[in-house]
Amino acid sequence: MKYQTGITLCVALFAGTAAQAGAQARPFPGPDVPQIYQRLLPQIEKIPMFDHHAHPGYADDADVDAMAAPPGSAALRERDSNPELVAAAKALWGYPYSDLSAEHTKWLVEKKLELKKQRGRAYFSDILDKLNIEKGVANRAMMAAYLDAKRFLWVFFGDAFLWPFNNQRETARNADEQVYIPLQEKMLRRWMQQEGVAKLPANFGDYLAFVSRTLEDNQKKGGIAIKFEVAYFRPTKFSDPTREQAEDIYQRFVAGGIPAEAEYRTFQDYIFRFLVREGGRLHLPIHIHSAVGIGDYFNLSESNILNLENILRDPRYSNTTFVMIHGGYPYDRQAIWLAAVKNVYLDTSETEILLYPSEFKHLLKQWLETFPDKVTFGTDCFPYNEALGAEESYWLGVQSSRTALAAALAEMISEGEVSEAQALELAHLYLHDNAARLYGDGK
Ligand SMILES: [Zn+2]
Repeated sequence: MKYQTGITLCVALFAGTAAQAGAQARPFPGPDVPQIYQRLLPQIEKIPMFDHHAHPGYADDADVDAMAAPPGSAALRERDSNPELVAAAKALWGYPYSDLSAEHTKWLVEKKLELKKQRGRAYFSDILDKLNIEKGVANRAMMAAYLDAKRFLWVFFGDAFLWPFNNQRETARNADEQVYIPLQEKMLRRWMQQEGVAKLPANFGDYLAFVSRTLEDNQKKGGIAIKFEVAYFRPTKFSDPTREQAEDIYQRFVAGGIPAEAEYRTFQDYIFRFLVREGGRLHLPIHIHSAVGIGDYFNLSESNILNLENILRDPRYSNTTFVMIHGGYPYDRQAIWLAAVKNVYLDTSETEILLYPSEFKHLLKQWLETFPDKVTFGTDCFPYNEALGAEESYWLGVQSSRTALAAALAEMISEGEVSEAQALELAHLYLHDNAARLYGDGK
């Protein structure tokens, strides 16, 4: 009996400070979770972050994305009625009111306008400083002169190369596509203009050369990765056509006419795989929107992250780094197993805003318990309007990720899965190191 008491004492002494070496993990967290959380959070706040996915920019800047938001339902937390936005305005600007009424919002708009004038190119860098973001991705159609390239890394879009033909049928599919497809056409024209291509080449080989040249030039302009939001425009199951098949379709339709849906898809499947290969050749990671999307016509089953499994597990693409943007939510439990592939990473952006921290914590905990070296932090900040700007969504994304991370790690410590020191190592990996390493910026 004495021996048993000794063991109990020993466990009590170590509980809350470190996992017991050799002890079995427990199925329930202990009552020490809130204390561990309180200890972890300030340490987590001190970790400089790498924001792996975001759209910094002003509300009137059309280049913050290659597409635009169609009218549609917004999840509760993304509505402008979210009371957390008052906390964001207080934290960022010292907002003196406790609501966002039209009259009070005027204060906020004026305050931001004044700072923009005063700070110029430092305005958005100031936001990063306030939130302890060391560097952040700017996933934008084109880079903005008002973002400091030392802090903001450009991720450009690759989708437009998939839509070179007459898109009448694609556009007419629904109200969302009526917004999206013309913007893809516009993006393709911008790439053509950039490369001095007045008219799409008649020869397929020349078209592929134009695509490659655009990627190379974007890389020279500072581009660090290629982003696809293709899930908004078509199903993400890609077949494996031959070059001859794609060439035949290109040659028949580049000068006019509408390809049958199956033909258009076959052509796109080839171009998508070509871009994936080019991403490997140029060391430009491939970022793919892999979660639920905005708009009322986003097809959840046709864009399920598992549709991409044949691409991600294809050994021909083992030199290409894939980042699954938004981590496949709501299929996040399946998604984490795709990160078993050495060149596949998951990003949590958007999910941390769609979900409240109490729920996001579960997702993060499961991921950190599986492949903690493959998950990265992102905010998906976006300028929704003058009052709810990229600034406020930066704040919301950062707060949600930090608190959910501290809570997930506190439970893992309390359950005897990891020590507190190990938990902080995981926090560094998630908030900074895993992503930074992909761009030669690891520590
Ligand atoms: Zn985004």
